[in-house]
Amino acid sequence: MNYRIGHGYDIHRLQIGGKLILAGVQVADSISPVAHSDGDVAIHALVDALLGAMAWGDIGQWFPNSDPRWKDAPSVLFLENVLEKLTAEEFHVCNADITILAERPKLLPHRPAMVKFLSDRLHCPVNVKAGTNEGCDAVGRGEAIAAHAVVLVVGKS
Ligand code: MG
Repeated sequence: MNYRIGHGYDIHRLQIGGKLILAGVQVADSISPVAHSDGDVAIHALVDALLGAMAWGDIGQWFPNSDPRWKDAPSVLFLENVLEKLTAEEFHVCNADITILAERPKLLPHRPAMVKFLSDRLHCPVNVKAGTNEGCDAVGRGEAIAAHAVVLVVGKS
């Protein structure tokens, strides 16, 4: 079996107004990421981890923020696009582990919905962890939101 590991990281600045979507789930309606797409940092990190595992470059190459097709696009489209290619190459995801760093809002109540949203698409165990940045840097001041993701994928060749 051909096992491959991938890591992804993303960060977006936050602004007042709009909605905040994380791992496909709306978690706030008074702040939003500054982004070309919906700015879902959890999915962006996950997509970058999948692309990393497959040695397929990065999310910026696949879904450039200069492309009007992705203006305000739900990030799940990026995930579905990459998963489709991965399946076509006869790979599947073994598991995914995601860490979201945000001062606010509290993410614990949303964790089951986030896990379900992602595991329904990846068809594997998904873990979502959430923490603050302990008041450090822009994330800690509530000016930005960040996420890390690690995935393991496996293929036949
Ligand atoms: Mg991003």
